[in-house]
Amino acid sequence: MNTNKFSCPKCGEGVPKYKSAYMTNFTKIICNSCGAKIRPDRKSLSLIGGIGGGLGGGLVSIIVGYTVISGNWLQGGLAFFALLVVLMAVSCFFTLRFTHFIEVPENA
Ligand SMILES: [Zn+2]
Repeated sequence: MNTNKFSCPKCGEGVPKYKSAYMTNFTKIICNSCGAKIRPDRKSLSLIGGIGGGLGGGLVSIIVGYTVISGNWLQGGLAFFALLVVLMAVSCFFTLRFTHFIEVPENA
């Protein structure tokens, strides 16, 4: 399995994953090979969003709670910043790993 590309649901040709970095729920991309309009499956996106949001929300609460209790705002700020970086990397990874594409009908 080629992990650098998504496969087009219509022709099976690979679609470069870097395009997904700019995708939202409503963005369509065009398959280079067959010209089909495809977009990420909303189910996989909402799953990733749910996991990322839940995990991020939980960790942010822990960091904020710890910062307020300890009074160490510098450390809290650094932890928060580190968390943001990690979450972005993780959500990027999961998006590239688990997003599936579906074809968008021409008349949609
Ligand atoms: Zn295609």
